[in-house]
Amino acid sequence: MKVQKRRSVVLVPYPFQGHLTPMLQLGSILHSQGFSVVVAHTEFNAPDYSNHPEFIFHSMNDGLQGIDMSMPSLENMYDLNENCKTSLKNYLVSMMEEEEEEEFQDSQLLDPLPELHPLRFKDVPFPVIDNTVPEPILEFCRAMSNIGSSVATIWNTMENLENSLLLRVQEHYKVPFFPIGPLHKMAPSTSSTSLLEEDGSCMEWLDRQAPNSVLYVSLGSLVKIDDKELIETAWGLANSEQPFLWVVRLGSVSGFQWSEALPEGFEKTIGERGRIVKWAQQKQVLAHPAVGGFFTHCGWNSTLESICEEVPMICRPILADQPVNARYLSQIYKVGLELEAAERSVIEKTVRKLMLSEEGKDLKKRIVDMKQKIVTGMQIDGSSHKNLNDLEHFISSLPS
Ligand code: UDP
Repeated sequence: MKVQKRRSVVLVPYPFQGHLTPMLQLGSILHSQGFSVVVAHTEFNAPDYSNHPEFIFHSMNDGLQGIDMSMPSLENMYDLNENCKTSLKNYLVSMMEEEEEEEFQDSQLLDPLPELHPLRFKDVPFPVIDNTVPEPILEFCRAMSNIGSSVATIWNTMENLENSLLLRVQEHYKVPFFPIGPLHKMAPSTSSTSLLEEDGSCMEWLDRQAPNSVLYVSLGSLVKIDDKELIETAWGLANSEQPFLWVVRLGSVSGFQWSEALPEGFEKTIGERGRIVKWAQQKQVLAHPAVGGFFTHCGWNSTLESICEEVPMICRPILADQPVNARYLSQIYKVGLELEAAERSVIEKTVRKLMLSEEGKDLKKRIVDMKQKIVTGMQIDGSSHKNLNDLEHFISSLPS
């Protein structure tokens, strides 16, 4: 599947009311037709960004400081054009370079990987196209995949979830395999293992929300995003008009301590409809009846936790095994929607699809069935239970 990128339109209005208004209206029309709209504006009479969360704004240095523009002369207008020329040109060049680079990468990265349907080159945990991977990373990958040197392996998964894959790996490595997951449900202890302080106050907020209405958003404990993605996610969530609980981990936005990069006017726009916390009790959150969807990076623990609580997903994988998990969730199990681009309009559309559409209801039905399979595997005569007994015998039989 080739991801169709939105074409960008750059609007450059004169900074006067009679010019700005129709230009912004034109922008709204073009945006509703599927274009990505950039408004390149002067510092003088800059438009209010918070009124147009759907646009990208670029401020140009107009060099008008100290000049009275209440009655602009022709000379002022000439200066305005001259002063903004370089800034606009540089911006357009960098925009086009970025697009060209993305198109070049997309064309290779979206090709299917032979014999590994539904995976594409971009989904593998290490870059196979780029042969400049540093040696320490290659060494790490080799060590991780050196299963053959183990006497046996224990897997946090279930036979009835990915039996054919497990058989293929087992055949290849020829060592005993023990899939005994999901570990968080098989473990008798329920005490917290969290390294970060959990903000329990969001549970009261969840209690006040309607059943299946809340989207839970979290990208796990490791990945970082840039401020651009934070802002796109913020407006995507706000514009979807769905309640959300969003975990923004301390240090998870590159170059910022926490959520300072959130756009101005965002908190006012969302009001009580959204809640942002630094860290949540994720398993309890997913089990809460108000939660109807999970916007996730598809870490394996999050994936299993979501399936076990029957919460369908929006998949926003970033690195390591996450793209593979996302591919299986969206293409094989069909319990998740792949986020095609981390752009506000795509996020808005995908959130609405998950939470409100018939397709979203189908995902929910499938994840309920999937959970049932897991429950079956955990029963006394189920595969995880049986494998656990075998594992116990295997460990006991090892020479001491
Ligand atoms: N988690 C949590 N609170 C949060 C976010 C995540 O307790 O606010 C937990 C989540 O329940 C899961 C783990 O952190 O058990 C994340 O593991 P995963 O494999 O999903 O992703 P990773 O952090 O390794 O990328």
